[in-house]
Amino acid sequence: MSNGIEQLGYMAFGVRDLAAWEAFMTRMLGLSVAQRLPDGAMTFRMDGHAQRFLVVPGEDDLAFVGWQCRDEAAARALAKRVSDAGIEVSEGTAAGAALRKVAGYVSFLDPAGNPIELAWGPVLAAEPFKSDFVGSGFKADELGLGHFVIRSKDREQGERFYCDVMGFKLSDHITCDLGGFKVDIAFLHINGRHHSLAIGGQLPHRLHHFMVEVNSMDDVGLAYDRANDLGMYIEQSLGRHPNDRMFSFYARTPSGFQFEFGWGGRVVDDEKWQPTTYYAISEWGHRRVPRPKPKTP
Ligand code: FE
Repeated sequence: MSNGIEQLGYMAFGVRDLAAWEAFMTRMLGLSVAQRLPDGAMTFRMDGHAQRFLVVPGEDDLAFVGWQCRDEAAARALAKRVSDAGIEVSEGTAAGAALRKVAGYVSFLDPAGNPIELAWGPVLAAEPFKSDFVGSGFKADELGLGHFVIRSKDREQGERFYCDVMGFKLSDHITCDLGGFKVDIAFLHINGRHHSLAIGGQLPHRLHHFMVEVNSMDDVGLAYDRANDLGMYIEQSLGRHPNDRMFSFYARTPSGFQFEFGWGGRVVDDEKWQPTTYYAISEWGHRRVPRPKPKTP
């Protein structure tokens, strides 16, 4: 696409409990460890890329996210648009590129303060990826690692930045009232994945959730069983979204923000796509799971 971004390349989470995250990424999500760094940081594989996720010591939140650009020239052209919009863009370092397993990158803060990077030249793995838990494998590679939902000062401002400056395309909006909480989300695409990025309003973390998608419905069911067996806090039961058609559930990561584990997401054809608005977040399901009342002593 014209903005030069090809896909969601990598995501890094700052975490307090590295051991809990290693168990979560491998046994719950079914990823594999790619690198272990001396400071305890770890990186994880899910597909043909040498790595997709980084977990680094820090506060529990999104640490940075990398949009994979077509090449260095495309990344630098986009970086110029960002700096022309009044945002300071910093050069990446050689050590940073080695950690991210890319040829290079630049970084900046979006208008809501989210740490964003434009990267080029990802290192690909020599061996195909095979998950210990997800038999069908992840739907990633050229569609990117998945999607995520971040906060903005207000949804309109966030959408304007990502569409007008960064060149994302609007897929649709969902606006509704969810138990007294106003939901107003913009879903944006940069390739065939229905959305690689969605923008909500004010949120407690930078990140509301990130999503990984697998290639079979049964692998979502098996992941739901694992989530229960591992004692994960299920935030939303199995359900289906009306816009991207994702069949999924949500649970809490060891850092408090959520993950979505899904299958069946819609692939959009940008030539024919008409943005619409939906007035419900789910067609069915995605319910709060009833929990036993805490025992009184
Ligand atoms: Fe999602």
